[in-house]
Amino acid sequence: MQIVVFTNNQNKIKEIEHVFKIKEIEIFPYLRVFKEKIDVVEDGFTFEENVRKKIAVFKEHKNRIFLADDSGLEVDVLDGRPGIYSARYAGENATSNQMCEKLLDEMRGKENRMANFICTLALKLPNGKLKIVVGKVFGQIIQEMRGQHGFGYDPVFKPDGCDFTFAEMKLGEKNKISHRARALQKALEEIKCYLRVGV
Ligand code: IMP
Repeated sequence: MQIVVFTNNQNKIKEIEHVFKIKEIEIFPYLRVFKEKIDVVEDGFTFEENVRKKIAVFKEHKNRIFLADDSGLEVDVLDGRPGIYSARYAGENATSNQMCEKLLDEMRGKENRMANFICTLALKLPNGKLKIVVGKVFGQIIQEMRGQHGFGYDPVFKPDGCDFTFAEMKLGEKNKISHRARALQKALEEIKCYLRVGV
């Protein structure tokens, strides 16, 4: 079974491949299958609205499961911002450094550093059924960037109970606890159930 993913973000693909390690499935970024870039305007007011728009571009297919993701960082003291605007928070093509710097600027002097990452996934199964799953990880925004791995806000996010930021962790460590890994585990259960393997 092919899993066709609505992303070209190599970091996300690596995280998905790492969790979806069963012999029955193969992961493909959608560009490898359709050869054409698809643009979806992410103008929903929630992660779920955005992910439903993304998955809607795929028509059901008997040998393919489609997967779309929408994720972001929610900071308590900023009333949940950057939230659904996480990717564009520091401008359209901002680098991870620029995003983190903008966030650290906004957080300067703030005592409450609580935040969470959230990942909402939509799965379209070959029978046309749609499944939505959500994963979250809670933590703190630290005072300065730390670490070289990962992407986006990883250098400023330290999960609760850990001494390291996501950017200081290797992929395997981040994937034990991340929002995306948690949502992917739930998605994998749905897929196994559909394929009737390992359940
Ligand atoms: P999306 O690609 O529309 O889902 O945008 C998600 C944005 O949220 C990314 O561009 C990152 O800035 C941020 N983000 C989502 N997941 C992560 C993560 O695992 N680490 C760091 N930043 C993330």
